[in-house]
Amino acid sequence: MNCPRCEAQLKVEKYKGIEVDRCPECKGLWLDHPELDQLEDTVMDDDDLKGTMEYARRASEISCPKCGVLMTTFNYRAYNLPIDYCPDEHGFWLDKGEEERVLELIKQRTKDLKRSSNAEVEWGKFLGRMGSRSFMEKVKDLFKG
Ligand SMILES: [Zn+2]
Ligand SMILES: [Zn+2]
Repeated sequence: MNCPRCEAQLKVEKYKGIEVDRCPECKGLWLDHPELDQLEDTVMDDDDLKGTMEYARRASEISCPKCGVLMTTFNYRAYNLPIDYCPDEHGFWLDKGEEERVLELIKQRTKDLKRSSNAEVEWGKFLGRMGSRSFMEKVKDLFKG
């Protein structure tokens, strides 16, 4: 696959035991999620989630490195963190450093939610807003010890 931003050949690297595709030029990161289909059954109903998403979705300027379809960009509203994903669920594109911001965001959000009386409900909503549980699990795995 080639980088959707600069066309450089993505290099497969094992990172924390997970196979990721990293651009050697712009350091962007492609996250596959072949397990999405399996995990879909365990997360909230997708159609409901789409109806309650609160961050802006718009057409991305980059195309999926797998299928070439124009990707979709969404923001996590409060953080102005844009993430691109393939509408055919091939994966997510994170620009340089965005995976770290996502992780920081999760950590902060987890802290906040632990103080919340309805943490479980809010956590579920948060995962939904980020796109999919499998994506979040994968990102968290990247940063495991
Ligand atoms: Zn690149
Ligand atoms: Zn695709």
